[in-house]
Amino acid sequence: MAEGTLHDAFIDELRDTYDAEKQITKALPKMAKAASSPELRAAFESHLEETRAQIQRLEEVFASLDEKVRGKHCDGMEGIIEEGKSGMEEDFDDTTMDAVLIASAQRVEHYEMAAYGTLVAWAQAMGHSDAAELLQQTLDEEKSADEKLSSLAEGGINQEAAGSAHPDDEDDEEEAPAPKKKAMAVKKPAARRR
Ligand code: FE
Ligand code: ZN
Ligand code: FE
Repeated sequence: MAEGTLHDAFIDELRDTYDAEKQITKALPKMAKAASSPELRAAFESHLEETRAQIQRLEEVFASLDEKVRGKHCDGMEGIIEEGKSGMEEDFDDTTMDAVLIASAQRVEHYEMAAYGTLVAWAQAMGHSDAAELLQQTLDEEKSADEKLSSLAEGGINQEAAGSAHPDDEDDEEEAPAPKKKAMAVKKPAARRR
């Protein structure tokens, strides 16, 4: 007979989120370094500080539940951060890179918003009101971080990047188009099974 309860699932999700936040603290300094816009860099740096405080807040949540502080590897965040890294390795012009950094960062924020949204709802459903309140504070911060990124993108970065997207006026049509990506490996057709 299965015995796992919503409380067990809640603790699992807290551990997953704790680990996700830790992964983010490693990724944000690299994103700040890769940013050209001073406002974008500042946004990443300030969200790094905020993220450190969110980790401490999660520690308070564990304490409020009499649980040991423990992380459990978050595969979802690892994947999102990996995709962000591939973007950073591309040969984009400065503003395009800023737009791409924002795109990856917003994926991170939305993943966190989904996680904290669930955590708040579950904490409320089980009457863990201290935990719910702490988790709500972080949810609000993630939403503001996401909004800040939208306002940077829409407040100039996207438009500036778009400005150099179609360089019709340049006389470089003779140039061979640069290969966009690493050469694609030729995939062997999968063996068919019958
Ligand atoms: Fe966070
Ligand atoms: Zn996860
Ligand atoms: Fe965040």
